[in-house]
Order: sequence, then structure tokens, then C-alpha cells
Amino acid sequence: MTIGDLSPAAERSLRGIVDRMLPADDFPSGWESGLDRFLDGILRTEPAARLDWIAPGIAALDAEAGLRAEGMTFADLGEAEQDDLLAALASGTSRAAWPMPAQDFVDLFARLCAQGFYGDPGNGGNRDAVSWDMVGYRQLAPGVAWPATEPATGPTVTIGGLRPRYDAIVIGAGAGGGIAACVLAEAGMTVLLVERGSALSSDELRLDHLRSERSVTGYPTKTGGSATGDPRVILDGSNEKTVYPPDSRWSANAMTVGGGTRVYGAQAWRFCPEDFRMASIYGVPEGSTLADWPIDYDELEPWYDRAEWELGVSGAAGGDRYAGARTRDYPMPPVERNPGAQILADAADRLGLLTGPVPLLINSVQRDGRPACVLCGACVGFACQAAAKNGSQNTVIPRALATGRCDLLTGVQAERVLANGDGRATGVAVVTEVDGEIVRRDVTADRIVVAAGAIESARLLLNSATLTEPTGLGNARDQVGRNLQAHVYAGAIGLFDEVVRDSTGPGPSVATNDFRHGNPGLVGGGMLANDFVPTPLNVWDTLTGLGAIERFGAASKLGMRRLWSRMQMIFGPLQEVPNADSRVQVDAEVRDRFGIRVAKLSGDIHPEDRRGARFLADRAEEWLLETGAHTVFRTTADDRPAGPSGGQHQAGTLRMGEDPETSATDRWGRVWGHDNVLIADGSVHVTNGGVNPVLTIAALAYRNADRMAEDWLAGR
Ligand SMILES: Cc1cc2nc3c(=O)[nH]c(=O)nc-3n(C[C@H](O)[C@H](O)[C@H](O)COP(=O)(O)OP(=O)(O)OC[C@H]3O[C@@H](n4cnc5c(N)ncnc54)[C@H](O)[C@@H]3O)c2cc1C
Repeated sequence: MTIGDLSPAAERSLRGIVDRMLPADDFPSGWESGLDRFLDGILRTEPAARLDWIAPGIAALDAEAGLRAEGMTFADLGEAEQDDLLAALASGTSRAAWPMPAQDFVDLFARLCAQGFYGDPGNGGNRDAVSWDMVGYRQLAPGVAWPATEPATGPTVTIGGLRPRYDAIVIGAGAGGGIAACVLAEAGMTVLLVERGSALSSDELRLDHLRSERSVTGYPTKTGGSATGDPRVILDGSNEKTVYPPDSRWSANAMTVGGGTRVYGAQAWRFCPEDFRMASIYGVPEGSTLADWPIDYDELEPWYDRAEWELGVSGAAGGDRYAGARTRDYPMPPVERNPGAQILADAADRLGLLTGPVPLLINSVQRDGRPACVLCGACVGFACQAAAKNGSQNTVIPRALATGRCDLLTGVQAERVLANGDGRATGVAVVTEVDGEIVRRDVTADRIVVAAGAIESARLLLNSATLTEPTGLGNARDQVGRNLQAHVYAGAIGLFDEVVRDSTGPGPSVATNDFRHGNPGLVGGGMLANDFVPTPLNVWDTLTGLGAIERFGAASKLGMRRLWSRMQMIFGPLQEVPNADSRVQVDAEVRDRFGIRVAKLSGDIHPEDRRGARFLADRAEEWLLETGAHTVFRTTADDRPAGPSGGQHQAGTLRMGEDPETSATDRWGRVWGHDNVLIADGSVHVTNGGVNPVLTIAALAYRNADRMAEDWLAGR
């Protein structure tokens, strides 16, 4: 059944609901702007849109109308009466018999109407981007066109065509894995780079505002993992729940060639010297595993420099009180500052805060054969349609493939690291589906690099039991999977009387690092910056969630029209205090579509993180008030449901250290007891800094893969 199958009377009522939720004013009504086409598409394709509710819900709504005026349907009521009925239902007052809670039905419609009206026209609604004109959002500046689209960095080999053996197998073609593959292949090694996701071109990753890695709809994304075949288990108190993508508790990053870097926001911060010495500076808070890194900032600095220059970072030194010494400045100047950032920078000056630009893995000028950023308004969560964002898929992986020594295998999952009796890894067991058949294969290699992201890398080792380590490779001391951490995000949203921003992307262009450390009574802290240009749909979700605007009706539309351009968001990642109970295990029962035991996530953030989040939110609030905001909403971790921190900044599950009793890998990221197994992703972070993690993941991958290549060259 679709909309076309509704009776004419029910379709009239449907139109009535849509047009009261989005009434015509200076801009068209919901129906006039294409909501019929949108609903037809979304109800067919997305189970979460609840096609099964539509006909019975409309019938119940018509029954409500009949109770108000005998013989009438919803469509027959006057507009004021329709508004009154919807408001009553939304507040929980209903009289007719409903097959679902009436409130939920109205809420579903409010969400569907917002998705159709504020989402991208490619989803059928928002004809001629009419709502974007209304709020002042645009994807591209007038006169700017997208450059030619970027093809996928696709597979070069199939599971049936692998070499008999490789010098190294790299598991995961994300941030760290792409770099490791490049370093090893350029050093002369034969490398198999195996990625469970598929290779996706920019065309396949079009700017879909309903299905990006930052969209709020809960609809599956192309990079988010299988919504049926990839469960995880969440231990919530004493209850275990099985969850699937895109449930946020599943804790996704992106799964495709490029991993998170295919769709990330590309903020490219270095950790500062203090971040490597957290326990020395702050002690070890009770209930935490806060620790120093086995290396310091100076040891990593040359590798930060290499990452910035080889991948391509735009930025400017200075403007950061805690920044460590640098070999040289960034390879590209900062991306142009957007108009809204200037008033924030001025206010920060008045508060005595030091600010600077946000470093980005985005071309601010043409570089490496790819164009400069076109400053579009659709950056974070989307693949860059201008190919100006630098991810592993368009930098290091093509370089690795160009050597002719690296094979890229996509859509294939590493199941287990294989090891012999004395603990030396000998290869990787991989699995995939070909023409509906499950195909398994053991691939032989001298060295293994695990870079599957902090949750999947831990899962992989735990699933790689040996005779001497029956609970998982490198897990004799029960360290694998512990210390799962990411970033609690904290900050504030300010509403202004004046227009304070436009759609000039990417968005983050003014930051203060003053609160990364040195905050009285606090362990660490975090960076604060203005946020990415938000999509209108995400703004609707945020403002309605805060109660700043109504969820539907004339006032809601006016609120969006007024506030999209009159709000500023200042947020930052708080450095979390890790704890050993926040962890990845493998579940004894639940298996994925290949029959492999899945990750079980348990634990919670440390209480210190909730305090830290309040502190950062306070600082963001002060900044916004000084900028002229009349209303500020703070975002802290106080209402955060219990559960470990994971998701896009996941890290820490195979932390480096000097002592195998308290770490899973040595100071070179090698699994204790298995010198030929290197971890090259966020798992090795001891702590995760008060800034976004990817540049540190990259620097460590360069350093540690370089060491592996040296060992190989030296025959060690
Ligand atoms: C929307 C979004 C915005 C972000 N913005 C920023 C930002 O602005 N700045 C920043 O620093 N970070 C950002 N991040 C986070 C950043 O992308 C990650 O920190 C980074 O990509 C992690 O690198 P990694 O090497 O640990 O893992 P990933 O990049 O996640 O790569 C792991 C890869 O391994 C693959 N894989 C997993 N299991 C297997 C298996 N068993 N076999 C084969 N392959 C497997 C996955 O599919 C994936 O491709 C963002 C992420 C997202 C999604």
C-alpha cells in the first residue's frame, strides 16, 4: 500500500494533516512543496517511516473529527478546528479508539513532514529547495558548480584472485589502515588491504540529508553497516540488548573505503604535550585508568608533520595556548573564515580568550591534483562532492595501489588473525558472500596490521583465540577491549536577534584551546569551536528538541524561517577520563550474518566526564552571551543515558603502554607477545585528547607502520 492506495477521503485527510503541519504562508504549504511525492517514496523504502500506521492512523483521526462534528472527516474541519485537534492529540488528549498512541501518530507526522520539507529535494519533497530559500540555507553559493565527481577508489582484487602470500595484510581501509598500507607498499612490501565496506563514489554518496552519517532520521546509511546482518550487544545495567545500525548505541563510524575519513568533518587537531602526560599532571582519579602515554609529544611531532603534509591540512600556527612546538607551519592556509565566525572571534577577544582557525584536512587551495574547497554548506557527514576533503581513499590508498604491490579487497570481512603455536601471526581468515554463498578463505602473510576501528579491532583480537591465549590474541592479561572511550561533546547553542551566520562552509572556523588544560579542579578539558553548517532538517530537530520552536504548525515554520540564520553553536570534544569497565567484549550467543561472535559494549563514562562537560558548556554559554545571544541552551552529559562512549571518535581499546599488565600494545602499537601484529587505528590511544582524534591516529599509523617497514627491510 502507498498513498495512491488510500481512499480519496483518506487522501484528503492526509493532505489536511500535512498542510496544517506546514501551512502555506509567504512560502508554499507542505503538500504544495512536494510532500505527496516525498511520503510516497519514504513510506515505501523506510520501515521506520511506519507505512503500516498511515491508513489506520488517518481513520482514527477522522473518527476524532467525527466526534467533534458528526459526519465530518479531518479534511472537512475548518483550519482552526484542525489545528486545535492536532494540538490536543499532540498533548495526549484523544477521544476515539486509536490503534497506536495518538500522540505518537502526530509526532510521526511532524517528523515526516519536517523530513520532506527541510530535507534535500532528491528525496522528493522540498520542491525547488523552497524551504532552504525560506530559512536562508543553500548548498552551493550562487555561480559555483561542483567540479567533476570523484570516482570510487575501488577494489583491485577479488577473494578468488588473491596472491598466495603477502608481506603484510592490513585489516580496515580507514584512517590508520590506509596510511599503513601506503607506508608498507611504498617500502617495497606486498600488501593486502582488506575492507569490509564497499567502495563508494561521490555519486553514490550523494548529498542525502536524510541518510548521512550526521542525519537525525535514524534511517540506514550506505556507510553505516548492515541493518540486519551486523548486530552488537549492549549491556545496559544488567540487561543485554541486541542493537543494529543505525541505532546510536551501536556506535558506528563509517564503513567503506576511507572509513571515517570518507565522510568526516576533517578537523585535524594535534594532541598537545599535556595530553600525553595525563596521569603525571592530574593523578589517577578513583575508578579510572588514566595513564601517561609511553611516548611524548616531541616523539610524535615529526609524524604529525608528515601526516599534515602528506594528507593535506589547511591551518595556521598560533592562536592555541597549548599547542606543542612544530617543525613547520601547515601546508595550506586556513579555509576562509565564515562571516559568523568574526563576531564570535570579537567576543572571544573581549573575554580575553585566545582564538585561532580550525585546522582541516580540506584543501583550501588546489593541491595534489584535487580542487580547493568550494565552501559548500553540506560538509560533515557527507562525502565531499568537490573532492576537496582529504581522506585515506583519495590520498594514501591510491598511492599504495600505484605501487602495484598493494591489492585492495572490498566487501570482505576479516574474521580472525591466525597464529601459530609460538604466538607468531601467520595470516588472516576472511569471509564474504558471493552470489548468495558464504565464502571463507585463509590468507597467509608475514605481518598483520589491524586497523578496523577501536570496537572492531578489539572484537577481532578477542575472536582470534589461540591454544595459549584462549580468550583472544594478546588477551592473556584481560586488557584487550578495555578503556573504550571517545568524546563527550559539550557546548551551547545561542539564539540571536540579528542574523549571525550564512551557509558558508565547512563551518568550524574559530576555536579556542584555552580550556584544554589548566581548568581549576578539573581533569583536562577540551577545545571549543563554532560548529559545521547544519542542515535545515538537523536544525529543526535541534530547535524542537530544545523547545525553542514548535514541532509543527504556522509557528514552527516561522520559527525555522527566523532562527536558522540566527543561531550559533559552540561545541567541543571533552577529554574523557578512561575506565577499565568501559569495554568491548564478544558476546557468547549473538553472531553476525557470517556466524562470527559480535562485539558487546558495556560500562559507562567516568563521573569526571559529566563534571567536565558542565564546565565546557558554561564556557560556551559565556562566549555566546558575550557575542550577543539573547537565549542560550547548554549541552552537557547530565541527561546522557548510561553506556560507554564510542561512536565516531572511538578509541582506547588496545592502548599502548610500557607494561603488559595495564596495556594491550607496546610503545610501537604491537600486540604484547605478538611482534608481527601491529594495531594502527584509534584503539592504541591511551587517552583521547580534548580535540578530534584523527590526526593523532594518522601520526601514530605513520610512525608505527614505518617501524614495521624498517623491521621488514632489516629482515627482523
Ligand atoms: C561523520 C563523521 C565526522 C567526523 N569528523 C571528524 C573530525 O572532524 N575530526 C576527526 O579527527 N575525526 C572525525 N571523525 C572520526 C574519524 O573519522 C575517526 O576518528 C577515524 O576515521 C578513525 O580511524 P580508524 O583508523 O581508527 O578507523 P576507521 O576510519 O573507522 O576505519 C576502520 C575501517 O575498518 C573497516 N573494518 C572494520 N572491521 C573490519 C573487518 N573485520 N574486516 C575488514 N574491515 C573492517 C571499517 O569498515 C572501516 O573502513 C568523524 C567521523 C565521522 C563518521
